[in-house]
Amino acid sequence: MLPESEINRVLVVSAHPDDADFGSAGTIALFADRGVEVTYLLVTDGDAGGNERTLDNSGMAELRRTEQLAAAKAVGVSDVRFLGYSDGQVTPTLELRRDIARVIRQVKPDLVITHHPDRNYQFIAPSHPDHRAVGGAALDAVYPDARNPYAFPELLKDEGLEAWTVREVWLNGGPTPDHWVDITASMDRKLAALQSHVSQVAHVEGFADFVKSRFGAWAEQAGFGEGRYAEGFQVVPTA
Ligand SMILES: [Zn+2]
Repeated sequence: MLPESEINRVLVVSAHPDDADFGSAGTIALFADRGVEVTYLLVTDGDAGGNERTLDNSGMAELRRTEQLAAAKAVGVSDVRFLGYSDGQVTPTLELRRDIARVIRQVKPDLVITHHPDRNYQFIAPSHPDHRAVGGAALDAVYPDARNPYAFPELLKDEGLEAWTVREVWLNGGPTPDHWVDITASMDRKLAALQSHVSQVAHVEGFADFVKSRFGAWAEQAGFGEGRYAEGFQVVPTA
């Protein structure tokens, strides 16, 4: 694994607003604490989300972008970018790979955090089709697209974006996590980030308890002991 001292820039590629907050906001807050520059890239605006449909899809998209900016701020992230794909209809196309590769070349991250592209048969919730599509496209953008100057040559020719090699990817929500981050110190900020998604969670009774018990269970699985919280990832070396 990359030593912590060599992780100075991180790009988090997510399908929907709130995904990064569920998956990795505790870890992100700890990165931000030590001065790591973190960028969020959201493939959709989450325009098909929410239960209280008093808004049409474009109203919902605008609301959810605003909520995501607040959530990012809660864990020290101010660079939040949106690709504007349609929620619920994401597929790992060449176009999506190019759009993610573009941002990789702009941001030059050491580490990319994204969704696991495989379905998790033990726990289906993280395996939304948009998540799997984004995880697959993001991995393809890391290897080979972003590092290959001949892939999407227009990125170099028209936009001057040089090839960039991401050295490590952490995958969220997959069946085989092998790296656990103790987020006890940032759990309050993770919860604040999640609660920024008012349209998604305000109506959920006992939401804070639900979140604490989920991430508490993972801390026990990780061997951190009782009363602690953890986020889990599968680490993929991509140097
Ligand atoms: Zn999602």
